[in-house]
Amino acid sequence: MRTVSTIADARGALADAPRPVGLVPTMGALHDGHRSLLARARAECATVVMSLFVNPTQFGAGEDLAAYPRDGAGDERAAREAGVDLLFAPDAGEMYPQGFATTVSVAGLREPLEGAARGPTHFDAVATVVAKLLNIIAPQVAYFGQKDAQQALVIARMARDLDIPTLIEVCPTVREGDGLARSSRNAYLDAAQREQASAIPAALRVVAAAIRAGERDGTLAAAAGLDELRRRGVEPEYLALADPQTLEPVAHVTGPVLVAVAARIGRARLIDNLIAQPAT
Ligand code: AMP
Repeated sequence: MRTVSTIADARGALADAPRPVGLVPTMGALHDGHRSLLARARAECATVVMSLFVNPTQFGAGEDLAAYPRDGAGDERAAREAGVDLLFAPDAGEMYPQGFATTVSVAGLREPLEGAARGPTHFDAVATVVAKLLNIIAPQVAYFGQKDAQQALVIARMARDLDIPTLIEVCPTVREGDGLARSSRNAYLDAAQREQASAIPAALRVVAAAIRAGERDGTLAAAAGLDELRRRGVEPEYLALADPQTLEPVAHVTGPVLVAVAARIGRARLIDNLIAQPAT
C-alpha cells in the first residue's frame, strides 16, 4: 500500500493503475462499516483507493470537528489489512487552497432530515468534497454506506447531474449485535449510554414492524417508534418517514419508505435508518 497526501501524487500513482479503480471515501477512525465498503471494493475492483479526510467544512459551528476521533496510524494499518492499494490522506490546505470559491449544492435533497437538523450547508460541503475526490481519483466505482442514506442520495444525484462517470454503490449498514449501527461517534458513548443507544435501532424496528403489520398512517407509524425511544429515555431530534428517493415526507405509506432517526446520547449525535416495506 502506498500513502500519498497530495493531489499530484495521487494522480501520478493512479496513472497506470489497473482498472476498474474503486474509491472508498472515509473520515477515518475505521470500523467494521468502513471495512465492509473496503471488502466490497477489493472484491470488485483491480485497484482500491481509500481517502482519509476529516472534511472541516461539513461540520457546523458547535459540532464535533475538534473532538472527532483521529487515529492516522491505526487507519493506515486497517487500510493495509483491508487490501487498499492507495491511501489518499490530504490535509485541509491541499483540498481547500487559498481562494477556494466553488460549492456544489444538491437542491431538494440537502434540506430535509439531516439538512434541517444540521443546516443545509452540511450537504453542500459533503457534495463539494466528494465531487473533488471523484475528480482527483477518477474511480470507475465509489462506495458509500446506507447508514448515511441522505448523503448517498445527495452524492448519487450530484454525480448524475454533473455527468461524473463514476458508478455510485450503496452498501448495507453494518450493525453491532444489539443492532446499533457502527459509527466512529460510538466511541463517545460510556457503558450506560451505549446501552441506551440500542433504543435507536429498536425504534426503527418497531416502526418497520408497524408498517409490515398494516399501519399506513405515517404519523402513527412514527409515533410507535417515538414511544420506544422515550420509553428508553431518548428524545430524538427527529424520527421521520420519507420517500427513499426524493426524501419527501410520507404521510400515507403505499410502498417502501425510509425511516430515519437522529438522536443525541451524551456527547454523541447518532443517526440511523432503514427501509420499511408494507406487506404485499
Ligand atoms: P465516515 O468515515 O463516517 O464519513 O464514513 C465513510 C463511509 O462509510 C460513508 O460512506 C458511510 O456511509 C460509511 N459507513 C459509516 N458507518 C457505516 C456502517 N455502520 N455501515 C456501512 N457503512 C457505513
